[in-house]
Amino acid sequence: MAIERTLVLIKPDGQKRKLTGLVIDRLDHAGFEMIATRIVPVTRKLAEAHYEALKDKPFFQNLINFFVPTKNFKILAIVYQGENVISEVRKVVGATNPEAADPSSIRGSFGRISSVTGIMENVVHASANAEDAEREIALWFRKEDLPE
Ligand code: UDP
Ligand code: MG
Repeated sequence: MAIERTLVLIKPDGQKRKLTGLVIDRLDHAGFEMIATRIVPVTRKLAEAHYEALKDKPFFQNLINFFVPTKNFKILAIVYQGENVISEVRKVVGATNPEAADPSSIRGSFGRISSVTGIMENVVHASANAEDAEREIALWFRKEDLPE
């Protein structure tokens, strides 16, 4: 198995609810190696590019509003590297729907579904596959922020 890289983002709900340290702690304890971090001002343009694959979904605008809560909001982006890291990080993060996620996962422990918008406020983003990971890392990081 080749060495992979994956993108993790602390979503706005995770940051507002002060779960940033907890997310990093869980990923740290699971043994993943962090190779780059960046605090990124999240524009609507960036959020829309990040969730491009979902642009035809009925919840897309609510998702973007959730992801860009204010004009100058900043998101912590992290790249982890390791063997099989994409699927291994997804296991620790848990399923998309926090109510269906394993209760011991990050999303299962701390996520919720907004009663107002129906958006799954699931604390953390993690790339789903190698293609997404490459595209997403290039969106959130500049080349010079990443080790060779
Ligand atoms: N999402 C949602 N309702 C849905 C599907 C997705 O609110 O029915 C949100 C949720 O925050 C999710 C994000 O959109 O994390 C991206 O969806 P995706 O299917 O890519 O799930 P993920 O890869 O984040 O598990
Ligand atoms: Mg996804």
